[in-house]
Amino acid sequence: MPELPEVEITARLIGAATAGAVIESVLAPGLNALKTFDPPLHSLAGATIAGIRRRGKLFLIDLDMPGPAGPGMQQHTLLVHLMSAGRLQLFDKRASLRDRTSRVLLRLADGERELRLREFGTKQRAWVKLMRRESVGDEETLSALGPEAWPQTPDAERLRARLEQPRPLYTLLRDQHVIAGIGRSWVDEILHSAKLSPFKRGADLSSGEAVALRDAIHDRLGGAVEHYEQILALPIPDKLPLPLTVHRHNGEPCPRCGTTLEAVFYEDYVMCYCPFCQTDGKVLKDRRLSRLLK
Ligand SMILES: [Zn+2]
Repeated sequence: MPELPEVEITARLIGAATAGAVIESVLAPGLNALKTFDPPLHSLAGATIAGIRRRGKLFLIDLDMPGPAGPGMQQHTLLVHLMSAGRLQLFDKRASLRDRTSRVLLRLADGERELRLREFGTKQRAWVKLMRRESVGDEETLSALGPEAWPQTPDAERLRARLEQPRPLYTLLRDQHVIAGIGRSWVDEILHSAKLSPFKRGADLSSGEAVALRDAIHDRLGGAVEHYEQILALPIPDKLPLPLTVHRHNGEPCPRCGTTLEAVFYEDYVMCYCPFCQTDGKVLKDRRLSRLLK
């Protein structure tokens, strides 16, 4: 669930609070979360947190290894992918060993603080990967990402070129290879702002529609980050108060025209839209119901 705005504010808040902190030890109670063993995770003991960055929906935690400063200084980066149910949180106290949400624990040397990758639900999908910083550019997940959805949103023509495929906008905008950072929550908000049908094919986008879509991406994601800057402080809660007006608001009036918002239900998520603003009055098929009726 965490998408670009949620990862961005987390990186900013936790990055500011941990910059310069030294790692005392690293534990990985959720061993499935480890993607690589070279360099090994425990080699981070003694490293200093240089900063936390974001790329798409991933975190990059930059770590400077102990040793003489200068050209030979070892610089590592810990790549963190939350997948659908992960959280990166900073706690003042260390996790209970019985906490089943713990995946990776970075214990800080300045007291009891702990930077914790947690994951809710039964599946273990969140992961971390430690690498040398100079090889970050070659990392397969990162190098496969499309351009950032925000703050350097591609201009309308570039966006239109990237979306020029016979797939629906709802799928294309969430495809991290096409554009990085948007998921199931923010795609509903963006398409509603741009007054575009989720099922319009990318290849059918006019230049005017591409401008509206580009602006919606930029303004909705940027607006969310600004909103979080106003209301959030550490500790970041398990459930972030997402400023959504369409996603999961099916059955409520459209914030623009007052028409009742409709939804298409998939197995484990929901897509919401306004029939008046987005689909020429058409109510799209409820996939859940149509499957039951087969
Ligand atoms: Zn509407």
